[in-house]
Amino acid sequence: MKKITEVIRGIQYSLQFQYLRTGATKNGWRMGPDLYAKCPQCGYYMSLDPVQNESCPCGNLTKDSDYGRFGARTGDESIKIYQKKK
Ligand SMILES: [Zn+2]
Repeated sequence: MKKITEVIRGIQYSLQFQYLRTGATKNGWRMGPDLYAKCPQCGYYMSLDPVQNESCPCGNLTKDSDYGRFGARTGDESIKIYQKKK
């Protein structure tokens, strides 16, 4: 059973983020401060702001701005991309 805090967090996220696509575009990952990638394992929404290095709490998603790399151990097609609502 999910903890109530996780359920509330999920509702908050669904209000804040609009689903765009799964996986990368034909030209690779589109990065931007208003775009977020959701980890399929821990449910964390990671900002695709290209100037920040980040990884999700479970370590599946990683973003390395120095090398311009982004990806997941579970594969590109496991990553859902969201746009933050204005
Ligand atoms: Zn994760």
